[in-house]
Amino acid sequence: MNLDEITMVELQDGLKKTQTVIVPFGTVEEHGTHLPLGTDTYHALEVARMASKETAVFVAPPVHYGVCTSTYDHPGTFSITADALRLLVGNLILSFHSKGFRNIILFSGHAGGLHMSALKEVGEEAVKDLPELNLAVLSVYDLLEKGYGEIIETANDSHAGEGETSGMLFLRPELVKGRAPEEYPQRISYFITRDKLKYWPGGVWGDPGKASPEKGKKLLGMAVKEMVRIIREISEFEG
Ligand SMILES: [Zn+2]
Repeated sequence: MNLDEITMVELQDGLKKTQTVIVPFGTVEEHGTHLPLGTDTYHALEVARMASKETAVFVAPPVHYGVCTSTYDHPGTFSITADALRLLVGNLILSFHSKGFRNIILFSGHAGGLHMSALKEVGEEAVKDLPELNLAVLSVYDLLEKGYGEIIETANDSHAGEGETSGMLFLRPELVKGRAPEEYPQRISYFITRDKLKYWPGGVWGDPGKASPEKGKKLLGMAVKEMVRIIREISEFEG
């Protein structure tokens, strides 16, 4: 059930069947010269929607903006602060809870460190304040942990590389504009870079040239299967 497409009557009927909602999180962020800025949002939203066809769960409209650090200077990245994300997510959890939801899955298509830790921080506080609430915080990469390396050939594949390009070739091929060249960031991760474009001009981490829609179909299928398992487990969770 897509929350933005139903009426308040349908919401109340639906809540009798399930009190679980997935809230997808994305970004508006550069993804090389070949992928759309909404790549992370498309991934999170589509995995959630595909999972909702297999088991009872509500899918909330996505939060399109996220916390982007390493791509902050690139054209196409429109970031918010971790403070802004924490405030928004805290408000959303309270609102969903007040309407009768008891299982909330905060599901991100973007796995940036600050972004995920902002979601987790709010989650930690929410479960203290709301004892009957079950909460999960995860990214699409958490769902792919087991099989990513079996499908993706690039050893060090990450942003806008083989995996994300394959996902978009499967989900929205008309939005994929050729392929950016293979690239990896040239900075050492423990330095906080001031001039981000100098060390990572193309904004690609991996090899988009090895992407295919078949690989995307496998990745998304694996993510949906894991998400269905989490949806079924969360209402039984006694954390
Ligand atoms: Zn991405």
